[in-house]
Amino acid sequence: MQLRYGFRLYPNGPQRAALAKAFGCARVVYNDALRARETARATGEAFPRTGDLSKLLITEAKLTDERAWLGEVSAVVLQQSLRDLDTAYRNFFDGLKGRRPHMGAPRFKSRKDNRQAVRFTANARWKITPGGDLSLPKIGDVRVTWSRTLPSVPSSVTVIKDAAGRYFASFVIETGTEALAETESVVGIDLGLGHFAVLSDGTKIDAPRFLRRAEKKLKKAQRNLSRKAKGSSNRDKARIKVARAHARVADARREFHHRLSTRLIRDNQAVAVEDLAVKGLARTRLAKSVHDAGWSAFVAMLEYKATKFGRGFHRIGRFEPTSQVCCVCGVKDGPKPLHLRVWECQACGAVLDRDINAAVNVARAAGLAVSACRAQVRPVRVPAQRVEAGTHRDGRTTVVGITSL
Ligand SMILES: [Zn+2]
Repeated sequence: MQLRYGFRLYPNGPQRAALAKAFGCARVVYNDALRARETARATGEAFPRTGDLSKLLITEAKLTDERAWLGEVSAVVLQQSLRDLDTAYRNFFDGLKGRRPHMGAPRFKSRKDNRQAVRFTANARWKITPGGDLSLPKIGDVRVTWSRTLPSVPSSVTVIKDAAGRYFASFVIETGTEALAETESVVGIDLGLGHFAVLSDGTKIDAPRFLRRAEKKLKKAQRNLSRKAKGSSNRDKARIKVARAHARVADARREFHHRLSTRLIRDNQAVAVEDLAVKGLARTRLAKSVHDAGWSAFVAMLEYKATKFGRGFHRIGRFEPTSQVCCVCGVKDGPKPLHLRVWECQACGAVLDRDINAAVNVARAAGLAVSACRAQVRPVRVPAQRVEAGTHRDGRTTVVGITSL
């Protein structure tokens, strides 16, 4: 399996200038290729092939006065930029054909984009020097903070500059799987709005305080930015503060996802989650925009860690009505409004926590054997005969206790 390992880079002044040039050239080639393809599409000509575009927009363009500066950066970076455009088109067309969630058409890149990136493959002859620097063609030996050791030799490296002006190297590594001690425990996970995640064993997990604090600081920075006059130098300063706060939120969220996904995979032989493409659609636009990015990153981590450690990973499909079925008796009780956090099954009378009930159903839809007992909020331990004798003064449906199951 392939994994990404990211490290912070500290390029010096000339290296930052060389990287800016590489980002710019990669962007120009990308945009030139996009323009060529969009023109062909508009005029009904054949879709230009990547090989032809590479010849026209890189090899031949370098010989012209307008594009001579393309020769100042590694050609591999430019070719990889064309491949990125291929990927963007493939995803777009697959989306149109319904093979994957719908994606917008590829768009022109701007120098103002938040994230700038270039990729060096093995062909570019980049290397890690004996002194531990990252040696990049036509850029130099860049200082790296190695926060962990690479398990094997990486095949490619992507150099990224984020909105906060930080540089990173992201390596693609081929790794094998590692065995963990087997465990009996399995778990279903409901990703929700009230809590970040609710587990079928009844655990409710919220975003940790360090993430909430970073989010609060980001909001404050954004408010501060909106009060600054357009075009003022104070506004520029405030904008950088917002970008930094954004970066900190992203880091804190990633850290939280890592901790939680590692814990879930370590403690369980198999995990099951709901397909998020469906979940997002079922909810409001706001909720989707706030949570989707976080959820899918988290689920992706669960999946690769499950593969890495030999655990089961199940994604359950769109037609499982996880929040409508009573996990105690299995009767489908119909849709419920979002604000209803606790509901009573009309068939068996169980009083259920909406999220835990859903998590239990997620696990069961994946074929995992989990208990329904934590989904019940008010298990009544009254002996059955007393219930039958009609001790309930108001005559309401009796709550089924754990003991009767
Ligand atoms: Zn029921």
